[in-house]
Amino acid sequence: MLIAGNWKMYKGPGATREFCAAFSPPDGVEAVLCPPFGSLGAGVASGHTIYAQNVHWADDGAFTGEVSTLILVELGVQGAIVGHSERRQYFGETDATVRMRTEHALEAGLRVIACVGELEEERERGETEAVLTRQVSVLSARPGLTVAYEPVWAIGTGKTATPEIAQEAHALIKSLLDVPVLYGGSVKPENAAELLDQPDVDGALVGGASLDVGSFTAICETAARLSRS
Ligand code: PEP
Repeated sequence: MLIAGNWKMYKGPGATREFCAAFSPPDGVEAVLCPPFGSLGAGVASGHTIYAQNVHWADDGAFTGEVSTLILVELGVQGAIVGHSERRQYFGETDATVRMRTEHALEAGLRVIACVGELEEERERGETEAVLTRQVSVLSARPGLTVAYEPVWAIGTGKTATPEIAQEAHALIKSLLDVPVLYGGSVKPENAAELLDQPDVDGALVGGASLDVGSFTAICETAARLSRS
């Protein structure tokens, strides 16, 4: 199982070093930390597996504020999140740019966690299946690709999808694309077991609860226990 911690725009290099020194993932779990750009070097130096939170589709060029695969690889970063709902919501990320970022990163040898998920109003209108199908259709199953199902209404809101909602969405995504699928949306130590226990849930993308080394470790331990059983 893969458990990834998305730190968003939290933790500078000092806090990153502190977290990494205290973090010791249990056997049987692939733990990935995704610090902000300025803390990637500190994360890599710790020896933990580090992904970026975004990556551009060009090797280099006049793209202020972006980061390339070449820079990430040189830093020792092993992968990147692409298409997080906060990128889609606040920074104009589209299915087309998610496709370009994902393809280029995979070609460069980086692993990718590509995020998909419906808005609350889309779920209420009964459009979840259509939205997920559209978002997933720009991706192709390739080694190194993982999808994260992150219902937007559950991200940072404390509202978690029920295990049944998560399972239904994961089964749909897996019927469209044969890749591992993580669940993301207010995962915490208290609800990790019931979500990770679903047959088509292959791990979790954790935001808020990944900022605390105790709660992130507890989620990783739950995943390790379920992987063994
Ligand atoms: C995320 O940032 O991908 C996320 C799922 O956040 P949270 O766990 O805080 O809902």
